[in-house]
Amino acid sequence: MSTARDLAAHLRYLVELGVDGVSSDPTWRVRASAPSAPEAPRASEEPDEPEEPDEPEELKKPNPPQPPNHLLTLPEIRTELGDCRRCKLHTGRTNIVFGVGNPSARLMFVGEGPGADEDEKGEPFVGRAGQLLTQIIKAMGLAREDVYIANVVKCRPPGNRNPEPDEIEACSPFLHAQIASIAPTVIVALGKFAAQTLLQTETPISRLRGQFHSLGGVAVMPTFHPSYLLRNPAAKRDVWEDMKMVMKKLQIAD
Ligand code: URA
Repeated sequence: MSTARDLAAHLRYLVELGVDGVSSDPTWRVRASAPSAPEAPRASEEPDEPEEPDEPEELKKPNPPQPPNHLLTLPEIRTELGDCRRCKLHTGRTNIVFGVGNPSARLMFVGEGPGADEDEKGEPFVGRAGQLLTQIIKAMGLAREDVYIANVVKCRPPGNRNPEPDEIEACSPFLHAQIASIAPTVIVALGKFAAQTLLQTETPISRLRGQFHSLGGVAVMPTFHPSYLLRNPAAKRDVWEDMKMVMKKLQIAD
């Protein structure tokens, strides 16, 4: 595709998202990724209740599984994961999908689990939903390399079913070790499953989104999953409202 066509497609996408301005500050992308001090649709991606008025509510304090005592680097965490057989998902996988991006990212995206494309390539969010996520990241003035992208589980659940409790239990210490290692300022939880798992709540995504929650001091913004947006394009505007709050928190937008 030509550069002019790329640009035209990107601009069309910004209009579709409802983007109403971009920052002219050339340092915002650098600041967003600077280290902080030192495809088949899934049922879970649907909002599970009709939208209700957002009320701040007391969420159960999440009690994430404890990562190892000392902070590990991402390569050390990957080594620890090894040729993982800790849960039954290993039997159907082609590749472990560990995560990708900037090890010092201030912004991290967490999805549910790899689909067929991700399983084949060993990289998260590379299918149709992944392409939409990449567009959202670009609309924020960032690139995939600036952020970190991971999933709640690192092996593909068969038939794109939701990960089961024993699979989450086996895998989530590695996600929490990744979060501790990266120490992002903001985590965007993509979809109901990631949001409810990270925040340990059963509150519907339609009520969780649109406001920050806390996971051990890290700000978590739940939003709709890109797969849901593929089927419900009108929800892109809500996602863009959430991303504007994230950009503001990261000081990459006014
Ligand atoms: N959906 C997810 O939740 N994660 C991926 O990596 C791809 C699709």
